[in-house]
Parts: sequence; C-alpha cells; structure tokens
Amino acid sequence: MQKIYEKAPAKINLLLDVLRKRDDGFHEVEMIMTMVDLADRLEMEELPRDQIVLTSEAGFIPLDEKNLAFQAARLIKDRYDVRRGVYIHLDKNIPVAAGLAGGSSDAAAALRGLNRLWELQLTLGELEILGAELGSDVPFCIRGGTALARGRGEKLVSLDPPPQCWVILAKPPINLSTADIYGKLRAHDLPYHPSAPDMLDAIRRQSFTDMCAALGNVLETVTLDRYPEVRQIKECMVKLGADGVLMSGSGPTVFGLVSKEAKVARIYNGLRGF
Ligand code: ATP
Repeated sequence: MQKIYEKAPAKINLLLDVLRKRDDGFHEVEMIMTMVDLADRLEMEELPRDQIVLTSEAGFIPLDEKNLAFQAARLIKDRYDVRRGVYIHLDKNIPVAAGLAGGSSDAAAALRGLNRLWELQLTLGELEILGAELGSDVPFCIRGGTALARGRGEKLVSLDPPPQCWVILAKPPINLSTADIYGKLRAHDLPYHPSAPDMLDAIRRQSFTDMCAALGNVLETVTLDRYPEVRQIKECMVKLGADGVLMSGSGPTVFGLVSKEAKVARIYNGLRGF
C-alpha cells in the first residue's frame, strides 16, 4: 500500500503587529513568519474502509475531530467527495499550545499529503484557501518558507529566506490560549508597533544584525507582565548571549537567534538550569 510522508515544521514570528480589531472579531495583523527545522511528521496511508483514523504516541493531544490534522482530512474528504479512507500517524515533536503553530502545521501537512494520496491535483493556492477554513496560520503552513502575512494571517506574500542562523526555543510550562491573549490585547492603544519595512529590508539585505534589531511582537504587551516566566526567559537568553530574542506568536515559547554555533550550547545549557 502506498505511504505518503509530510513534514510539518514549526513556525516562529520574526514580527507580529496588530493593526486593529475588526468587526468580525478577528484582528487585522501584519506578521513575518518563517519555518524552523523542528517539525512533526505525518505518515498517511490508504485504508480499505471509508474512514479517517488518526494515531499518535503523544498522549497529550486529542486524536478525534478536535485534532486539526483530523479536521483537515475531514474537510478535504467532504469538500471533494472522496469516498476513500485514510490512516494518519502523527509523530509529534512540536510542543503543544506553544505559539509555534504545531496544530496548524499538522493540518497543512494533512491537506498537502491527502491531495497527493487521493490524486486531487489541487494547486497550493487552492489548498491555502481550503486551509484558511481551519485556522489563520494554516495557509502559511501550507506554503512554508518565509512570508509576510496580512489580513487575519491568510493574505500571504512569499519572501526570501532570512539569513541563516541558529534558533533556540524555550517553552515555559504554562498554558495559554491564543484567543485569551488576543482578547486581552489593547489593540487600539498599543505602546509600540514593530516596523515591518525594517524587517523586510533586513531580510532583503541578508543582515542578521538588522534582523535581530527589527524583531517585535505586540502580544508581548499582554504576556510579559502576566506571565513573568516569559520575561525571565527572555532576559536569561539575552544574558547568555543570544543576538536576538522574542516571544513567538501568542507564546509562551521564546526564541533566541544566534549567528555563531559556539554560543548555542552555552545558551541551551544555561536555560536548562532556569
Ligand atoms: P498557534 O501558534 O497557531 O496559536 P499553538 O502552537 O499555540 O498554535 P497548537 O500546538 O496548535 O497551538 O495547539 C493549540 C490547541 O489545539 C491545543 O489545545 C491542542 O489540544 C489543539 N490541537 C488540535 N490539533 C492539534 C495538533 N495536531 N497538534 C497540537 N495541538 C492540537
């Protein structure tokens, strides 16, 4: 039986700005996102019966209709009236509810994989439109690479990759919900806005230093005071020598960017004692 494999990489936000709250309840955002090497992996295989079966060794995620990969399979199957079954195995490596879009990336990988397995011949653009029904980050996860995202995150412009560097991810053991963080954001009264033009320019010029200087995420205005661990991890990473430090998405994961490999072990080991 044919098996299809898809990688589902985690994303980090190099920049996350909120322009305003919309009438439909979503926030109008401007984000610059890039994929990192950390990834989940999905294995997909035809099932002899017309059913979606999802398994995973990870004990901490739902495996039914609540799972985004399951929802993606259901969506593409129903929309294109596919009368075939699929067995999906999810190898979970991305921390859950971390601000790394793990669930969205799993959904994107399921859509890409099932498009191949069921020979639907949908274009990436068509998959992105379908993916937007599942979540704001799903279209970017389908496209991958690096992109500027606007609207509620679904309007994408692909970018060159950022300068190569090491990325250190640190997730404190706290649970926060994206909806809750956005709900607490004073979108009309933000103390600062990061500059997307500066970040785009840094990427265009491949300037690692300027990329680090242009990092910014307005959701930190909610999390840093409410969750002191996030602030402490940021300060710790800076002290240990990271060149750029920022919270990803709605957190709580903090990422550190480092240009020299020699610094990576020092920062990693320093954080372990945190
Ligand atoms: P984002 O950065 O897009 O806000 P996140 O990284 O903060 O996402 P996820 O890891 O996607 O958050 O998980 C958010 C919620 O979605 C969790 O409560 C989890 O139970 C649920 N969930 C559904 N499907 C998945 C999946 N495939 N992997 C992880 N979590 C999932």
